[in-house]
Formats: sequence, structure tokens, C-alpha cells
Amino acid sequence: MMSAIHAESVSIQPPTAAIVDRSMTEVCRLLEQPLPQLSPDAIWLSGDIPLYAHMRDIGLLSLANELADSVLCHECCQESSKPEAAPPNAEFAEPYQVYCSTCGWVSLSAGQARMWNVSPVKVARTLASALGLQAHYASTVLVPDALWRLGEIEIRRKRHTVFFGRRLPDNATDVRSAIRNLAAPGAEIVITSGDVTSALNAALADMTLVPLRAIAHIRKTQLVLENLEAFVTGVLDVPVSNETSLRLLHTKRVVLIAGVPHKISPQIYDFLSLLQKHDGDEVHKRRIAEALGFEEGFRRADIFKRHKLVLQTFIGTDDRNGYYWLNPEFAGQEGGDEST
Ligand SMILES: [Zn+2]
Repeated sequence: MMSAIHAESVSIQPPTAAIVDRSMTEVCRLLEQPLPQLSPDAIWLSGDIPLYAHMRDIGLLSLANELADSVLCHECCQESSKPEAAPPNAEFAEPYQVYCSTCGWVSLSAGQARMWNVSPVKVARTLASALGLQAHYASTVLVPDALWRLGEIEIRRKRHTVFFGRRLPDNATDVRSAIRNLAAPGAEIVITSGDVTSALNAALADMTLVPLRAIAHIRKTQLVLENLEAFVTGVLDVPVSNETSLRLLHTKRVVLIAGVPHKISPQIYDFLSLLQKHDGDEVHKRRIAEALGFEEGFRRADIFKRHKLVLQTFIGTDDRNGYYWLNPEFAGQEGGDEST
């Protein structure tokens, strides 16, 4: 699949765990904007091209037909102007071009010239399919561009109607009446790309709202939903913030990353606890190995195999000299406070 924004300048690597995890956060952020769209320059200048290329690969982002109003000259980065289709006999291989008064005609790939879109309709369909509903229900739009009915699921012998909504606070009145027309109180599940607390403030307080970024994960090329049932039955704490912290490390053995609780293994618990005791100071891997009960030392890859994001988020490393430390923003956190 063609995913490079510019075939010559970007070599596509398999997505790293961090990219896969950040994709959903970025999709949700875009879905909460009136026009869920990014200019090609926003992607180019983000310094995060692999993230967007990956999102395009898995179909969460796609190129619009619409050309950007202007793009920055990729040669000199001094001047912006409107891109246009390259004439059929152009010497460039790329389909678009932009004129710069310093550099002349500069060739552009489609991804460098056209707008990038997240389609809410497509996300609604993808969610229905991840829930296994597409065979039995057609997703229907209830509030244009804001609310879709995905179908019905049974959780603990109770039928629930599942909805997907975006920008709920802005559409609260319409959303509320559309949902109540189809589902009795307690029988609705509203998956939303938005922040659950602000939706609550906007008159949807009595509804079961599930933040999309907390249940949706990307496994290689597929979107999967996890923990929906746990949210609905109240087993999981609903993340109500973007908090990234070690606040629940000792009481619940979870770490919070962007509001999502991640359960950690006993080894990672010991690892983080030790670094926390040193409050941001470097700890040599020999001491860590002792604390974890390894006589022969340890391979970091084994310990963090399923928790790469935890490692990347909380821990600094000096591989040459074998030191680890707690990243400064997490040092000094007590980690035992459950009250807020
Ligand atoms: Zn130029």
C-alpha cells in the first residue's frame, strides 16, 4: 500500500508501539474539530510523518479531493502558494506542483498537495465492524455529522443500543432526544471521540458515555475495541482526564497514560517503585536486577515486551552506561494518592 507522503523522501518503517497508541488519540482530537481535516503542511511540519502515514495505511485518515489553499515551498521553505495539478507532459513524476518565485516549479505528491481527512462516517462504520454489528445492522445517521446508531449488543443479558457521537456538547439537545427516541435510560451506550467530562456537563449526565480513545486500540492494521463491557458494567474506572501519572501505581498497580489505566506486571511494578524511590536520580541496572531478583542481570526487552509505552512514557535510559531513571515530570510524585 502506498503510504509515503513523498515516495522519495520518506522510507516507511513498520509502525512502532508509540505510533500505534498515539494514532487513536490523534483521530479523536481531529474528530472533535468542526472540520476533521489537516492541511498537508500541518502533517509535513509536524515532524510526525510516520504517525500520519500509518493512520492513512489503516484507513483512519484519507486524502480529500480538495487541494490545500496553499503549501509551503519544500525547497526553500520561504514561500507559500496554491498547489495545482502538474501538466501531463511535466518532467516531474509527481502529480502536483507548486510555483515558488525563488525555486520555480516544485513537484508535489498527492499527500503534499491535497487535504487530509478523518471521515466520521467511516469511523462509525469501522466501530460497527469492530463490534461485529455490520452483518446485522446498517449504521444510520441520527444527528447529521454528530451521532450515529451502530446497532445493538447484549451485555449481561441486557440489550443495549450502541451509538457513536462526536462533538456531543455542541449538539447535546439533538443528541439527547435522538438517543431517547431509540433507547430507554440505561439501555444506551454512547461511544464518543470527545472528553467525557465536558459531555457530562452538557446535559448528557445520565447516559453511559464511553471515551473512544480508552477502548479503541490499533493492532497492526485493524481497529479493535477492548473493555467496552467493563465500562458499561462499571468495573473499569472511566478516565475523565488526559492524566499521565504514577498516582495509582501503589494502590491499583496501574499507571495512567493519557487518562487510560494500564495494568502492569509485578516486575514493572518493582522496576518503577525502585526508580521512584530514587526520585529521578540514575539507578544502575545492576541494582535494578538485584531488586527484581535476577542474578544474571536482565534484558529490558523481555520485561517491557508488552509495555513499551510504559517504558517510553515514564523511564529515561542511558543504554551505554546502563542507567535508568524516572523521567523528571514523574519524579517527586508520591504515587499513593487515590483521593482525586
Ligand atoms: Zn522555494
